[in-house]
Amino acid sequence: MQPLPVSEQSARQVQAEILRDKGIKPAAKPTDNVVQLRDFFPDAPAGEVPADLQAFRQEWESCETHGRYPANALRNGVVCWVPDCPTCAQNRKLKALSSKLVAVNVPKRFQHATFENYVCSNPAQQVAVDECRAYADDFQRNRDEGNCVVLYGNPGNGKNHLATALVRQVVEAGFSALIITARDYLEEVWGKDFSQKKALIAGFTGVDLLVIDEIEKTSSGKAAHDEFFALINARYLAELPTVVISNLPIKGIEAHMGEMAFDRLRQGDRRAILFNWGSYRNS
Ligand SMILES: [Zn+2]
Repeated sequence: MQPLPVSEQSARQVQAEILRDKGIKPAAKPTDNVVQLRDFFPDAPAGEVPADLQAFRQEWESCETHGRYPANALRNGVVCWVPDCPTCAQNRKLKALSSKLVAVNVPKRFQHATFENYVCSNPAQQVAVDECRAYADDFQRNRDEGNCVVLYGNPGNGKNHLATALVRQVVEAGFSALIITARDYLEEVWGKDFSQKKALIAGFTGVDLLVIDEIEKTSSGKAAHDEFFALINARYLAELPTVVISNLPIKGIEAHMGEMAFDRLRQGDRRAILFNWGSYRNS
C-alpha cells in the first residue's frame, strides 16, 4: 500500500463531505477509547493519508461478550480507529476506579455511592447534595485554596454516602484521596516517636483530599487535640483541604478536635453542611 500525497486541506475536505453525506455530526472531542489513525502511520509525512483510507468506510468488530461494535469512526474530519469494544473499555475503567476506591479506603458498602443514586426526600437533603456536588465540581479550586468541609448532624442521614460520592468524583478527575476514621488516626499516631510521627503526617499531606470520619468516637482530651492539630495544621500549611464527618453538632466537633485544629478547618471558603432531617422524620 503506497501512501498517496494529498494536502491536509484536501483530505479534510473529502472527509467533511463524507460526513455531510452521511448526516454525521463530528464529535466535539474524541473519546479516550479512540486512537487517531495517524498513530498507526508514524512514518507517513504530514499531510499524507494512505489512498485507501481517504474515503471513510464503516467497519465493524465483534466482542465475544457484547457483540458487534463500530471499529472506526470519523471525528472532526479525521478517521479514528476504535481499538477495543467500548463496553469492555468502560467496564475496565470502572474496575480500575473501584480498585482505586479501595486504595482510598472507601468502605465496601459505599463503593457504589454516587451523587446520582443519593435519594432526596426533603429540601434539606437537596441542599446537602447540592453543596457536596458543588464542592466536588469545583475541586481544583477548592484543592488549591485548601477549602475544608464539615459534614455533621444526625446519624443515618447519608453523610458517608455523600462523602463517598464526593471522593469518587474527585478520584475520577485524577486527584488522590484518603478516608480514615479519627480513631484509626489516633491509634496510628500514638506511641510513635517524633520522626515516625513526622513520616506519618507527611503521608497524610501527600493526598489531595483527606476525609476524617467519626470524630465523635474518640476521647476529647488534650492529647487527642494535639494530634488532631498536628494533622490538620500540616494540611493547612500545605494548603490542602480536609473533610471532617461527625454525628456531633459543631460545638461537639470542636470539643473533640480541639479549638486550634477546628480553627484551621474554618479558614478560607469552607463549608459546614448540616444533616439534621432525621430528627423530625422520626419524631
Ligand atoms: Zn465487550
